Amino acid sequence: MDRYSEITNKNQREIVLLKAFPCAWGKCSFCDYILDNSNFEDEINKVNFEVLENITGKYKVLEVINSGSCFELPKDTLARIKEIIKEKKIEKLFLESHWAYKNRIQEMRDYFEIPITFKIGVETFDYDFRNGYLNKNAKFKTVEELKEYFDSPCIMVGIKGQTKEMIDRDMEIVLNNFDHATINVFVNNTSSVKRDGELVNWFANKYKHLVDNPNIEVLFNNTDFGVGD
Ligand code: SF4
Repeated sequence: MDRYSEITNKNQREIVLLKAFPCAWGKCSFCDYILDNSNFEDEINKVNFEVLENITGKYKVLEVINSGSCFELPKDTLARIKEIIKEKKIEKLFLESHWAYKNRIQEMRDYFEIPITFKIGVETFDYDFRNGYLNKNAKFKTVEELKEYFDSPCIMVGIKGQTKEMIDRDMEIVLNNFDHATINVFVNNTSSVKRDGELVNWFANKYKHLVDNPNIEVLFNNTDFGVGD
């Protein structure tokens, strides 16, 4: 499992994939990456401290991800990240959280004392597909509500059951409302959710211009950021 990488094309930054306690929700129908979670705090910190040693601060920007929300990282790991931010003169952080922690987002912004781009797994702005089929439990009703807390939605495309209209609407919302977003093309995993190859081809063709959009990061494989397995 690669846990450290550099993103060198858009929004250059270092990225670390850390271990964490179990995702508090843990029930999204498409997710099998919570297998990386652990209940053993010492083991989690040991892995994380080693991974964090790789950070050089060369881009002054760091992204920290785990299989869940940043609020599930142990406090000693958070403290080490904060030390490294100071040591390596990092000026900006990317973090990710589930909607369930929306009332604690500001707490994390205050803790790190540098600007944070807070990502959230939205998957789709279609309320029913998101909370029904995908079982995301992110029950915001409007884009404005989401933007009160979060800066950057992660959208998933290419799932069987999704429609072209849904994806068109998601792209329109993302492009017109956010300074940054990530589009994840769904890759089959051990969950029962399946990739729709025809939909992926349609998306890749219709939205190929996004590759040149500096604010939109399109991941055709979930290891495109260089971390994971
Ligand atoms: S919130 Fe994220 S980590 Fe948790 S189950 Fe859903 S997709 Fe998986």
